[in-house]
Amino acid sequence: MIKVGILGATGAVGQQFVHLLENHPWFEVAWLGASEQSAGKTYGDVMKERWVVTDSVPEYVRDMEVHRCGEEIPVDVLFSALPSSIAGPMETMYAEQGKKVFSNASSHRMDHKVPMGIAEVSYDHFDMVKNQGTPGFIITKPNCSTTHMVLALKPLHEAFGIEKVSVVTMQALSGAGIVGEIPEKYQDNVVPYIGGEEEKMVEETRKLLGNVENGEFVNADIDVSASCNRVAVTDGHLEAVSVSFRNKPSVEDVKKVLQEFNPLEEDLPSKPKHPIVVMEEENRPQTKLDRMVEHGMASVVGRIREDNVFDIKFIVLGHNTIRGAAGGSILSAELMKTKGLL
Ligand code: NAP
Repeated sequence: MIKVGILGATGAVGQQFVHLLENHPWFEVAWLGASEQSAGKTYGDVMKERWVVTDSVPEYVRDMEVHRCGEEIPVDVLFSALPSSIAGPMETMYAEQGKKVFSNASSHRMDHKVPMGIAEVSYDHFDMVKNQGTPGFIITKPNCSTTHMVLALKPLHEAFGIEKVSVVTMQALSGAGIVGEIPEKYQDNVVPYIGGEEEKMVEETRKLLGNVENGEFVNADIDVSASCNRVAVTDGHLEAVSVSFRNKPSVEDVKKVLQEFNPLEEDLPSKPKHPIVVMEEENRPQTKLDRMVEHGMASVVGRIREDNVFDIKFIVLGHNTIRGAAGGSILSAELMKTKGLL
């Protein structure tokens, strides 16, 4: 077993890590960290009122002490669910100490030599960790809304060459770290602004769909326009995506390419059977009904149809704290292990 630590273990993403790593066949949680306010208490005590992903805090972590992030950590593999405001320098410090850091924060996503990992999308980018020049490394994962859109775009870009993308997102509250009861300001409401999110969707999509050439990332030449909205939903981001292609596909061509997409040959514990699930019903996918398809590890696509301005439009839905965060990072770590890089 490989012992792992979780930075930011008490937040929305941190608790997904704790949940998804229970009984993991390769990784064993041996260290939990959070802020000063949680440090020194047991995980069970800190999470008494905050745990939401299952009925109760898993027994295996209940009596574990929560440490302060920034301390020396006695394990080599770290999953980071720290806020971006502190993740940047802290993750760098740990990589310099030899830790292998799987980050969910945006701090290092666009760094030269730091890959953004989606196992099925940016497989060739993962090896860039070897060029970071530190004893350990940092590998990030994209923003949760970018993750699900790009999973759907990857096979379409390979097959038909994407020119332009326009996306309107409807993003869940847990994406902002809000879990449990819906706060009053979000009830009966849509907030048409998520700071920095639209810029992230543009930049990250271009990096993820780009290549690695001579040890450098080369962005894909794709125009992306994004409008991001926070909606009163607990989990799951739903996105309306319109795409123009160089080689115009039919609706049936698009469905076939999405359904057949399954590029990972490695047998990984968290790998979904189908990374993209296509639904035919005219009113699906729906957030509440479909976010847990493939245990939250798939991007669910539906309403694939022709568009009279772009070529094709569709809806994509995905779980933001599972494939969009903790589950995506765990899958990346599993892939790194099979690549011999852990
Ligand atoms: P969150 O719920 O606010 O949790 C933040 C975690 O970081 C908590 O464990 C918190 O500990 C800890 N923390 C806060 N300030 C700290 C400090 N100064 N020193 C040490 N630890 C500190 O945030 P989240 O939604 O889980 O997001 C975590 C990261 O993942 C963010 O960078 C976010 O952008 C990214 N992300 C989130 C999602 C999502 O769907 N939520 C998806 C993709 C990526 P305390 O409990 O002790 O305060």
